[in-house]
Amino acid sequence: MHTSHTFLEEVVQELYSKHEADIANSTIILPNKKGVEIFQQIVRKRSRKTNSLPQVLTLESWILDLSKMKLASTLDLLILLYETFQKHHFNKESFERFYGWGAMLLQDFDIIDKCLVDPKKLFANLYEQKVLTLPDEYLTEAQQEAIKSFWKTFETRLSSQQQDFLQLWKVLPQVYDDFTTQLLKDNIGYLGLCYRKIYDNLEVALLANYERLFIVGFNALHPAEEKLFAWFHRHIPTEFYWDVDAYYMNDENQEAGYYLREHQEKSYFQASFKHPFPARIQTEPKKIIFFESNTLIGQAQIIGTRLQQLVEEQGNNFKPNQVVIVLADEALLLPMLHALPSRLQSVSTTLGYPITHTASYRIIEQLLALQVAIRQPTCPAGYFPSQSIIGLLQQTPIKYYNQELATQTIQSLIENYSRYIPQKVLTSLSELYQLLFKCLLPGANITQYFIDIISLLTAELGTKEDLLLPLEKQALTQLQEEFSQLQQSVGLLLEVDLDSFTKLFRQLIQPIRLPLNQKSSLDGIQLMRIWETANLDFEHVFILGMNEGNLPANRSQGSFIPYNLRKGYGLPTLDTFQASLDAYYFYRLLQRAKQVYITYGAPSGANNQKEMSRYLWQLLYESHLPIEKHHIPASVYTPTIHPIVIQKDKAILEKLEEFVVRQGEITRTLTPAALNTYMDCSLKFYFCYILELKIPSKPVVEDTGTIRFGSLFHEVMEKLYASLQLPNQPAVIQIQDMIALKKQVRFVIAQTLAKNLYHDHDLQWKGEHLIEQEVLQKVINRVLVVDEKYAPFILVGLELGKQERLIAYFKLKGGRIIALRGIIDRVDLKEDTIRVIDYKTGSDEKYVDTIKDLFDRDQSKRKKAIFQTLLYAWILKKDVKYAAYKIMPGIMNTRSIFEPNFDPRVMVKQETDKEGGYIADITDYQDEFEAELAILLEEILDPHTPFIQTNNLLYCTTCPYNRICQRY
Ligand code: SF4
Repeated sequence: MHTSHTFLEEVVQELYSKHEADIANSTIILPNKKGVEIFQQIVRKRSRKTNSLPQVLTLESWILDLSKMKLASTLDLLILLYETFQKHHFNKESFERFYGWGAMLLQDFDIIDKCLVDPKKLFANLYEQKVLTLPDEYLTEAQQEAIKSFWKTFETRLSSQQQDFLQLWKVLPQVYDDFTTQLLKDNIGYLGLCYRKIYDNLEVALLANYERLFIVGFNALHPAEEKLFAWFHRHIPTEFYWDVDAYYMNDENQEAGYYLREHQEKSYFQASFKHPFPARIQTEPKKIIFFESNTLIGQAQIIGTRLQQLVEEQGNNFKPNQVVIVLADEALLLPMLHALPSRLQSVSTTLGYPITHTASYRIIEQLLALQVAIRQPTCPAGYFPSQSIIGLLQQTPIKYYNQELATQTIQSLIENYSRYIPQKVLTSLSELYQLLFKCLLPGANITQYFIDIISLLTAELGTKEDLLLPLEKQALTQLQEEFSQLQQSVGLLLEVDLDSFTKLFRQLIQPIRLPLNQKSSLDGIQLMRIWETANLDFEHVFILGMNEGNLPANRSQGSFIPYNLRKGYGLPTLDTFQASLDAYYFYRLLQRAKQVYITYGAPSGANNQKEMSRYLWQLLYESHLPIEKHHIPASVYTPTIHPIVIQKDKAILEKLEEFVVRQGEITRTLTPAALNTYMDCSLKFYFCYILELKIPSKPVVEDTGTIRFGSLFHEVMEKLYASLQLPNQPAVIQIQDMIALKKQVRFVIAQTLAKNLYHDHDLQWKGEHLIEQEVLQKVINRVLVVDEKYAPFILVGLELGKQERLIAYFKLKGGRIIALRGIIDRVDLKEDTIRVIDYKTGSDEKYVDTIKDLFDRDQSKRKKAIFQTLLYAWILKKDVKYAAYKIMPGIMNTRSIFEPNFDPRVMVKQETDKEGGYIADITDYQDEFEAELAILLEEILDPHTPFIQTNNLLYCTTCPYNRICQRY
């Protein structure tokens, strides 16, 4: 791979010079698969006899060999874990709710086993420490300190969340025991358990297949790995090879050498560290250039250009296998593939394409949405909504099944402008439509429904050739496998309702990546993640996306074991273990490189990038290496689509300035709806709020029925409660008021419909309006029942902010002030809590993982309703009249209001320590919310951030400007 010797070539050379006679009886262990492939390639070139090759293994395959176990699939492990919890009567949740935290617990078990921590002691101690205050004769001082510090966060009176946590810990030792006993009996497990099994059975029989071991290129080791290496070292000839450089080995502050410096003090490793360490990073000449870019595409383009230059400079001497492209951020995969010079289109990569980005996956999501839509009270029985049908038929595999039929159907739906289409009309059109347009009744076999559709599409697509299709064919095959596995494994556990099915399916599918159709070769350019580069050397190193959070990575996957307990028990933490490994991978790549090109996103760029990686700051200020640093101007390029990019010129900036408050004067305000529009698509924001383009009169088939229902609902609710309001003072609403209100519902609905649909003329009910009236009545009665339970309460206001403007000011860096305005459907007060209630007629969810997610444009299903309600709550909190109260955001959505335990509160899932995740007072989240809001507002005003089109084509389907964008 390299003109001078690479690390692996040096190792092979030394092995042969010292042990050629024993080489065939030797086993070489390397950290990863790519290292194994390259090592084997070098050995094959070096060895004269093919029958005298050593055995070369990854650490994982060696562990599996030694343990004689097989790795079980995550799904199978989770099913067994779920059943184990149920045996202990702990977990009453459905499987799909368990799936998320079960996976987290599985990771904890894995790491506990790899670190040889006694789970019984860890879990039991933690529980007992709190409840019984037992003496800890077997805990070190650090462990005791960690436990004490952890429990300090628990108050004297435990919240229900903390009690649940304690209960979980109480049952965990037994669950772990039963779970692992069963796995060991079946000879299957997860990797950590394989380590544990080997460690618990260290005996000479393990040595039977090994005469001589060479352990090559490791860094941080889990205790189980280290003890195993040391044990083999004691029993058979075992040598260690470390790939090190003086730069981080001789500097005790350099995290890259943290574990290696510790290793060299240990008796079994000591002799293998050869002094003085080579000093390649600082003494061998290399060219290092950093590029800062505002966009991901800009980063990929600059690397594409550099590669092109390299090919031209080197001509026939150019060797692709001397080039590595490392993606610190996997979002750069597609931009990088597009940006490769045409001569280098074929790369070897293990990175995959997210299945959730394929049209085949979108079909499943569209079908799930279709099934939800036909269950809405507004949808007549035996009919399907046109808008959902159009979205579905636009997906590539369906178009390929029968392009003409799909186009004709879409065309006729648009021209006829019918909101709902009878099922029997659709199913008469084709075999595929018969499968697609089924109404899944409760108890229906949902997986079979999808399997049937995918089978038909796969059979049809199999006969067609097109550039777009290989990935979709792969996606369909993968989906078919997932559905079959779901059907076989989980069928009995899963409550077969659509909601449960959807939740589980999404969790299973989310992590799947499809292998890209790239050449797999050791001789081509390698496109890798940073940890895959361990032990490999390249002359030309290109690293993209080197921002803090990417490298070092913030790969927090959640854990039940709190940080200070992990520390106390010697379990790895992100800040030492992961950061040290990432630093090592990075510096190690520099050791033998001649040219290093590194890109990172500008911190104020459109992708909310964090700072440049600290490793780059270290290189700049500590290494004394000559480093060039450039900024790439923003540009957007894709080879196939001509995007619309609106740079902010003088006129636009002036228009934007209208949102800034000048000397106390407000010209324009920003609303939650405007901010949501910006986050959906900044170009749409531009059309709507800067150009103030009128919405085209009949742009698309829009579900006007849903919009109309929403506004009727709002109006009826306002009229009903307005009758209880008192002039100039808040009204106290009692239970008997609700009873009285229920009697008026029918009349108020009739009045509202007459005004809106018949201009106050006598009602001539048409079928459709009769349905609307019935549905409205049902929904509104239900809201009154919910309110009756909540009564008595004080009605503070309806449509608060409509008459008298409700405005809050937000101060940006540099002193600019933005006025944010809200109109809140309803505000009520009970005890010390003001509820900010937003009525929603859709299926908006009421939980979000983190506050940050509300601002994350990459989330295809960003929780807009929560964002809106939180912003209302925040605006209200800023008003001195309400500042002394707790302000609780809430959503009353007509879809879930019929659930027996309906609760309008909004939940932040990861904040489990605050009120069980419910937001009881916006103040608790104010800092986080304001920090994200500041980034958003700064970006809107930023002269260097253009307005661009969204990548989420789903938004375009209902966007009034989609003809301008040609996304129709
Ligand atoms: S059609 Fe799509 S890209 Fe164009 S403005 Fe609308 S949402 Fe944005």
